[in-house]
Amino acid sequence: MESQRPHVAIFPWHGMGHLIPLVEFAKRLTLNHAFSVTFIIPKWMTAVSPGQIAYMQRLASSAVGAIDFLELPGVEIEGDHPNMNIRTRLSLLMEETKILVEDALRSFRFPVCAFIADPFATAMLDVTAKLKIPSYIFFTSSASLLCILLYLPTLAQEIEISFKDVDFPIEVPGLPPIPGRDLPSHLQDRSDNVSFNRSLQHSSRLREARGILINTFQDIEAEQVKALLEGKVLSAAEMPSIYPIGPIVSSSRLESESDKKCVEWLDGQPDSSVLFVSFGSRGTLSDDQIKELALGLEASGQRFLWALLNPPPSSIQCENSVSTTSAEPDMRLLLPEGFENRTKDRGLVVHSWVPQIPVLSHPSTGGFLSHCGWNSTLESILHGVPLIALPLINDQRTNAFLLVNEAVAIEAKNGPDGLVSKEEVERVARELMEGDGGIKIKKRVRKLMEKAKNALVEGGSSYNSMATVAAVWKELDGHSC
Ligand code: UDP
Repeated sequence: MESQRPHVAIFPWHGMGHLIPLVEFAKRLTLNHAFSVTFIIPKWMTAVSPGQIAYMQRLASSAVGAIDFLELPGVEIEGDHPNMNIRTRLSLLMEETKILVEDALRSFRFPVCAFIADPFATAMLDVTAKLKIPSYIFFTSSASLLCILLYLPTLAQEIEISFKDVDFPIEVPGLPPIPGRDLPSHLQDRSDNVSFNRSLQHSSRLREARGILINTFQDIEAEQVKALLEGKVLSAAEMPSIYPIGPIVSSSRLESESDKKCVEWLDGQPDSSVLFVSFGSRGTLSDDQIKELALGLEASGQRFLWALLNPPPSSIQCENSVSTTSAEPDMRLLLPEGFENRTKDRGLVVHSWVPQIPVLSHPSTGGFLSHCGWNSTLESILHGVPLIALPLINDQRTNAFLLVNEAVAIEAKNGPDGLVSKEEVERVARELMEGDGGIKIKKRVRKLMEKAKNALVEGGSSYNSMATVAAVWKELDGHSC
């Protein structure tokens, strides 16, 4: 660790969708703004995702010397048992971790001038408040979601029934009127009071931070950013400073043999001919949806590259071990019989991590059928790849709503059984890759790509936001801690 650099600490979250942009952000702080960064990682987080934390350390390796990883010791939680609800366990683990974070922050040889927490780690704001360390949130999702979360207490008062049952578009400052079913899935149902109240409490903690850095850029969410800055979501007195600094995406390179296999396969395909299909890091498709998707892709006649990952472990242990409730399923068995054989001349199904950035930047990739995780969304736009939106859970519906509204995605519509049918998959795949709708969307996404790139270069809106917050932290360095 270099001594003279201003020092910040980052408390991450273990999902890939959180780790990847956080590491990339840390790299920019160290390489472009001469900071040193310490990631504080509880042992239980490493236990939940050993592969992910290792991946994160590899991603950070190009900033060696300026990025450190501090692993905290293990903690025990009272009344722990294997069937404990995962959210309850994580929240208890966070509570027990606070004292360790406090000790770590007190013991740094070079005190930190700012503490940056993942949005799921707002519990750590108790520690920074106690130590009087300025705290910031790195918001890994959209400004739209931030508007919704910060406005949630007001919304919950205005509308007393479950949002999914509301039959009129809901007004949230900054967003176009949004159907209740397009709000994040975990906020839709109020019959489970405990879970809704937890979301309410969590969202109200975000405003305790001194600032919120958002992984977005002005041109994709201009109204949302404006609403946040102009006191329409929260009053100016309640509102943390807002810094749209995105799109921050991984600068990943090819690592494994399976990485190379994907790219070599793409090398053999015509330009813009391949539909890339991926549902993010967690493989959350149901067995029935996998079958419909496969049959739809087959019927569409389009070339495709499909990342069909195993779902994550379904429970975690407190200490060093990760327990899975069942053995990993063989995803091949979930595909319709003979599917891979019948489509082998124009399709590749990959059952391991796919190098998404090299795939999206490959000239053969012409479309992305995505779950609309926020990172995938930004990565697709930054590489000018038009989307088919097939959202599953959490904020993905809201992101899909935004993308369809911005005309950079075609929506794959759910049938009455909640599945996207094979006929619908066939329709949207053809439309995006060959239809008039696809041509319009491609033009629009190319324009947005230029704007995203411009936001990041010197003088661009995100570049300036990043420089502003870096300057604030440098100013704080040595004064408030
Ligand atoms: N990703 C990847 N290869 C895969 C699956 C995912 O590189 O096979 C990366 C993807 O590029 C993105 C992140 O993992 O950076 C997933 O984040 P996103 O927000 O899109 O979805 P989540 O996994 O959080 O649902």
